Amino acid sequence: MRCEVVAVGTELLLGQVVDTNSAWIGEQLAVAGIDSHFQVKVGDNQARIVACIRAALARSDAVICCGGLGPTQDDITREAIAEVMGVELRRDESVAGVIRGMFARRERVMTDNNLRQADVPEGATVIPQTRGTAPGLICPVDGAETYGVVYAVPGVPAEMREMVRRAVIPDLQRQSGTTATILSRTLRTWGLAESTLAEVIAPRVDALEASGNPTIAFLASGIEGLKVRITVKGPDPATVGVLLDQEEAALRALLGDVVFGVDDESMEVAVAALLRRAGLTLGLAESLTGGLVGARITAVPGASEFFRGAIVSYDRAVKHDLLGVPPGPVVSEAAAAAMAVGAARVLGADVGLAVTGVAGPEEQDGQPVGTVWLGLALDGEVSATLVRLPGHRQQVRQLAAISLLDLLRRRLMARAR
Ligand code: ATP
Ligand code: MG
Repeated sequence: MRCEVVAVGTELLLGQVVDTNSAWIGEQLAVAGIDSHFQVKVGDNQARIVACIRAALARSDAVICCGGLGPTQDDITREAIAEVMGVELRRDESVAGVIRGMFARRERVMTDNNLRQADVPEGATVIPQTRGTAPGLICPVDGAETYGVVYAVPGVPAEMREMVRRAVIPDLQRQSGTTATILSRTLRTWGLAESTLAEVIAPRVDALEASGNPTIAFLASGIEGLKVRITVKGPDPATVGVLLDQEEAALRALLGDVVFGVDDESMEVAVAALLRRAGLTLGLAESLTGGLVGARITAVPGASEFFRGAIVSYDRAVKHDLLGVPPGPVVSEAAAAAMAVGAARVLGADVGLAVTGVAGPEEQDGQPVGTVWLGLALDGEVSATLVRLPGHRQQVRQLAAISLLDLLRRRLMARAR
């Protein structure tokens, strides 16, 4: 069973409204195990809507049209579907009665154009409206060249979602006779280049090639690292969940500590969990990141349990006077180490974490943009690590922040073993 999505509305083409409906419908189709290969946006123009629906039905078994079901002149999805079906619209008196009743209950005057929403293509089934005034439609198309089923749902997201859940997905599943489920899980990684990551997991990708299920995909997400997405198709959510668990375990065995989280878990969430588990408090000294690391840490609910604070030691004098950084270059191993020790001391924290570097656009003390030192003081040991980060000022700052968090994450994981 294949089903496409056609989102109707000139506002979508003009960028005035972002087409979140298609994204949501796409997700629902995937979860329901229905293949969906195309999503199209089209303006409020009958000929073009008709062409889109015909093209979709030529490739697929079903189409979900969202939008253009309202009462105004530019709401012409009904007319377009009737044209594709080769039938006339006729007023459905029971739908008209519901619309009249809605206006009466709200004590509002109903203009006649509202009754356009009661016009139904001959042979179509109405999906009763529970929220808005426009009903949805299930429209069988049975022409010589074009056949399949067209579903029409309103454009207003809440109305659309309610109808797709209640009527469209169940109808599609009934028609397809399948109740397959497709689910994805994303492993988030930090620290490997894309080519290296691909090499590391190549054995799994090769092993899965024959069956095509699960599938594995890479997604680069820039300053948040690389993602490895596992997608599994199976008869029901429980079975799919087991397969996802198995594949996740197989990939983790290859990737090890490179994986810092799953799905929405950010680097700071991973660090927070490790700090909590170890019962350690954290103090920060930030230079080029200017508080970015502290902002990320405090974004985690309950950060007050382990986070003592951050010193934005931007000026050279602050590094020296407050943190005890020795004279000399401030982008250096010695400065990063001293900042980490100073942060732990001044803030009364178990862990001192520090970052100093060159964000650009100018080089500093003869050091190129992207030169960043990460300092860590924990358990009486002090270390400083050099990283060379790519990009311009904002990217260097963001990469420095996540690199620092990752350094702590790995140290805490090693410490826990
Ligand atoms: P109604 O029946 O309630 O009048 P409709 O079917 O006429 O709805 P539209 O007029 O196309 O729907 O859209 C109504 C509103 O819904 C738009 O102004 C927009 O805010 C939102 N909307 C429409 N299409 C989308 C979409 N694809 N993604 C997100 N929002 C949308
Ligand atoms: Mg409308």
